[in-house]
Amino acid sequence: MSTRTPAHPRTSADTERLKLQPCTLVLFGASGDLAHRMVVPALFRLWRRGLLAPGFRLVGYARTKLDDAAFRDGMRKAVLEKARPGDEEAWPAFAERLGYITGQYEGDQAGYRQLAELFGQADESGATARRLFYLALPPKEFAPVIRQLAEAKLLGRSYQAPTDGWSRVIVEKPFGRDLASARELNAAIARDVDEHFVYRIDHYLGKEAAQNLFTLRFGNALFEPVWNRNYIDHVQITAAETLGVEGRGGYYETAGAMRDMVQNHLMQLMALVAIEPPDRWTSTAVRNEKVQVLQAVQRLEEDAICRDAVRGQYGPGTIDGAPVPGYRQEPGVDPHSMVETYAGLRLHIDNLRWAGVPFYLRAGKRLAARRTEIAIQFKPAPHTPFPVPDDAGGANTLVVEFAPNERLTLRVAGKAPGRGMLVTPVELAYCGASSGEKPPSAYENLLVDALVGDPTFFARADEVEASWAIIDPVLHHWEHEPELRFPNYESGSQGPLEGDAMVQRDERPWRDLA
Ligand code: NDP
Repeated sequence: MSTRTPAHPRTSADTERLKLQPCTLVLFGASGDLAHRMVVPALFRLWRRGLLAPGFRLVGYARTKLDDAAFRDGMRKAVLEKARPGDEEAWPAFAERLGYITGQYEGDQAGYRQLAELFGQADESGATARRLFYLALPPKEFAPVIRQLAEAKLLGRSYQAPTDGWSRVIVEKPFGRDLASARELNAAIARDVDEHFVYRIDHYLGKEAAQNLFTLRFGNALFEPVWNRNYIDHVQITAAETLGVEGRGGYYETAGAMRDMVQNHLMQLMALVAIEPPDRWTSTAVRNEKVQVLQAVQRLEEDAICRDAVRGQYGPGTIDGAPVPGYRQEPGVDPHSMVETYAGLRLHIDNLRWAGVPFYLRAGKRLAARRTEIAIQFKPAPHTPFPVPDDAGGANTLVVEFAPNERLTLRVAGKAPGRGMLVTPVELAYCGASSGEKPPSAYENLLVDALVGDPTFFARADEVEASWAIIDPVLHHWEHEPELRFPNYESGSQGPLEGDAMVQRDERPWRDLA
């Protein structure tokens, strides 16, 4: 019998083994929303879990004039807003690790000189030799900041053993706004940093539910034999929100649902469902498989786009009993806007495993319910010796839910108690939190991965480009053929009727957003 140790243990029991090396994280855009709501709270949780080495340092960097004390104070408020027992007491020791530099991102190099000075100081722990630069910035700053870091000689180009130091860069989304701009950004980054050190973050990949899909598929003998066109009828991937643009109308006008959700998050989830089993658990093997499957997605030609790509825009309606405005009435939105707040796709993957199995993707705002999930719909049992009603689980569904809860549910046909073979649906559920410990957030998981140098759950350059290549023709078509029926769905509804028609043509309904 052989025993296997996990390559990247993350539970508290494994904390000791994981102990990260002292390092310095420079957070660009430290005055911003993401830094306050996600990045620093996640780092604090890692600190509390004992996963950051004592020599860990966090340097906030932004144009807003702040000193160390003001930066720490702002972060204290942000972190303790959702305090857990013991957080207040733990904060001061963490706060000592925090510093701040006021600087420009482009042009004036004074801030970068300060950074170079900091990293030039010898530090016995090695914290200044191990550098993680997190670009929590508007995308137009990604390439210029990397250029400036390179000019300040803060980025190493060649691979060095971790004990000698390293420089890694986390790049936020959106990564480009079409295939051409994504290629351009990849090329600009590649001039200064080896791909090996670039961590393009997609926080869906850091979610426990997403990573569980791998253990489910590749850690059990049960699923792989049925994970194919012979047993799977279709796959639905949904990211439904009840929220509107929440004051971010200006940003949304430049994005839309396809760019904001489908190109990155939903494509990644589709790739996780569809990849071939990697031969080893390495970032190269896993990401190679993801690229392969994204490249196998059938391209949507002009005539298919009208049939297999759907867009919608919400009008006024009711959410949770309260009236809400339409998209065109939101602040910062053009009253004649043609931007989609709903996008749906019907895709096929041209390979032996998936030929003929539709993958339906939809993402939308102001829908009837908040629900993000992957639903893998199996074919019905070919023969049953007693009646199994359609809704009783005979056609099994495996649901990987991301929101509102993170859990896996397998719906099967069970027996109703009492005499006779009355069949009723039964759910076998696994929730990451069932062990009693709150599961780590996506940002916690991904920050640890970046700190230990494991890019498995980050998007590689070719992955991003493969995903844009699927979306590009649709965006191009939509730009040239405005949808004159906008707004075409009511806030609080199931989405546009065109979305229903897309799946009903295959005689398959969307799962209800209840
Ligand atoms: P912010 O708009 O809050 O910007 C972050 C910081 O960047 C600001 O505090 C500001 O710092 C600086 N900044 C803002 N506008 C400009 C500008 N026009 N030119 C130069 N600098 C500017 O962004 P977020 O924190 O919300 O997001 C950061 C990145 O993360 C973005 O790429 C975003 O798409 C991505 N992201 C954000 C999410 C979120 O929930 N917020 C979720 C997923 C991804 P200062 O003026 O002090 O320099």
